[in-house]
Amino acid sequence: MKLKKITIAIDGHSSTGKSTMAKTLAKRIGYAYVDTGAMYRAVTLFALRNKLIKGDKVDEKALKEHLKHGDIVITFRPTKDGKSVTVLNGRNVERYIRSMRVSNVVSVIAAIGFVRKEMVRQQQAMGKDKGLVMDGRDIGTVVFPDAEMKVFATASAQVRAQRRFDELRSKGDTTTTFDEVLANVTERDRIDSTRKESPLRQAEDAVVLDNSNLTFEQQDEWLYQLYLERAKC
Ligand code: C5P
Repeated sequence: MKLKKITIAIDGHSSTGKSTMAKTLAKRIGYAYVDTGAMYRAVTLFALRNKLIKGDKVDEKALKEHLKHGDIVITFRPTKDGKSVTVLNGRNVERYIRSMRVSNVVSVIAAIGFVRKEMVRQQQAMGKDKGLVMDGRDIGTVVFPDAEMKVFATASAQVRAQRRFDELRSKGDTTTTFDEVLANVTERDRIDSTRKESPLRQAEDAVVLDNSNLTFEQQDEWLYQLYLERAKC
């Protein structure tokens, strides 16, 4: 079968396993993978480290200046074991951007118009030659509205919180409780869906993937078949 290079947009709610499915698919079909959530998380980490966030108040003026002056450079670096880590100003920040400290405020940072504008600009540049899988909240609606394949991933809040909780435990976090994770997942859904700038919504031409009751194998195969269908010439 002859296949053309396409753009694949995977959007959806928090902790639906978007990154895992996007990464697996990208590897299988030899595409690049971009985790846009990691980019918003890296901006959030920068803001926290530079004391630009007090409670849920952000010093927007200072953050804007930093972005304008190119003080926040986000890249992805491949690792020896075939994974990719998020790099902020030359330093691997993968471990820090996944912490609850960042998760608790990332949706506030991601709701700021000028932050989104800059991230979208960088994401569009990364995808200009197609052949990539990008996951986030607004990829099919704003970043690549012409993507040939759009998936909207969802699952129940309970299932999503359990996955995130297991992930935190496996990474050595023994203090965060399940209820805290559930509250964070629900609150991020609320902020992401109701914000003024590019709210999380399903693109009209996106295919819904509810993976509450799917195994990884079933999900990966479903995505691969959809890819074949969309990429065939
Ligand atoms: O995907 P992840 O959960 O790591 O994303 C972290 C946060 O970044 C989300 O809760 C959302 O607020 C924001 N985000 C966004 N647009 C994207 C990707 C992530 O607003 N394209």
